[in-house]
Amino acid sequence: MKAKILSILRETDGYISGQQLCEKFHVSRTAVWKVIEQLKAEGYQIEAVRNRGYHLEKSPDVMWPAEIESLLDTEWAGRNVLYFSEADSTNTRAKRLGEEGAVHGTLIVAERQTEGKGRRGRRWESPSGSSIYMSILLRPDVLPNQAPMLTLVMAQSVTEAVRRTTGQEALIKWPNDIVVNGKKVCGILTEMSTEMEWINYIVIGVGINVNTENFPSELAETATSLYLENGEKHCRAPLIAEIMKQFEKDYEMFLRIGDLSGMQERYNRLLVNRGREVRVLEPGDTCEGQAIGINETGELLIRTGNGETRAVYAGEVSVRGIYGYV
Ligand code: ATP
Repeated sequence: MKAKILSILRETDGYISGQQLCEKFHVSRTAVWKVIEQLKAEGYQIEAVRNRGYHLEKSPDVMWPAEIESLLDTEWAGRNVLYFSEADSTNTRAKRLGEEGAVHGTLIVAERQTEGKGRRGRRWESPSGSSIYMSILLRPDVLPNQAPMLTLVMAQSVTEAVRRTTGQEALIKWPNDIVVNGKKVCGILTEMSTEMEWINYIVIGVGINVNTENFPSELAETATSLYLENGEKHCRAPLIAEIMKQFEKDYEMFLRIGDLSGMQERYNRLLVNRGREVRVLEPGDTCEGQAIGINETGELLIRTGNGETRAVYAGEVSVRGIYGYV
């Protein structure tokens, strides 16, 4: 009921009376009053005016389930939200829930991670109170070799949601990072549990530096936050809700088509590497050339010095600009 009351308060331009809320939820005035008092105690600024009712003036920057649920506009993505003030890693939690049978679209959100993960055992710096750490659990009917494409689907959804909610020119650094002004604001990590021929579940983890004010010195060159780029603090839950909405759409299109051809053009428009000279670092190999864009399976096409076009598979590689991070 808390999430529903919050949604109604948000949708109402002026005031909604206690009586209207009671009738909507078939509960007593005291029950409504209790929820309103609870919301106030949690930091919501709710104005109560005699004979007019309640009006939501301001929401706190929290990622609690009721706040996220009240903002969601999805069928399944994020509809089952679990919040942790601290988690080892949201991907690890999501995988555990995957084993326990949690539903498709379950979203795990944490305020802080003690063992935030990047690719290949790297660490994701996860301080408290300023960032989004979340993982979505998926149970898609696709083949294991199609699953890595979902990293690119999520990268695009996050990029578009960030652009819409903050107005910042977020771009994708192939395959799994999002940058603003050439520095990383977001990393994405996809993990899965498979049998030979099918997928039990997939977990996509997303870490976004939203209001982070500073980074450890070893990251200061390459990392940034949305706040540091334009001096504005952002509430995290609306961004999460926007990502869920965009991802649900993009994911359904991906499933219908079976590859990325439906979003390839949009992705390439958002690709920071496009047209740039890049160095691809593969275990035991490097190659240099001009990045052209992705193909329909998400490989990065690179035109090398001798005029050949090479398709690079995302699995094990990192891409760097010849002259810097991008
Ligand atoms: P790269 O970004 O170096 O190409 P990658 O895409 O494989 O590599 P990820 O696995 O996405 O990297 O993320 C892990 C790396 O990101 C870490 O090794 C570190 O350099 C950097 N990093 C860690 N925490 C953060 C953070 N909060 N914000 C930005 N960058 C971070």
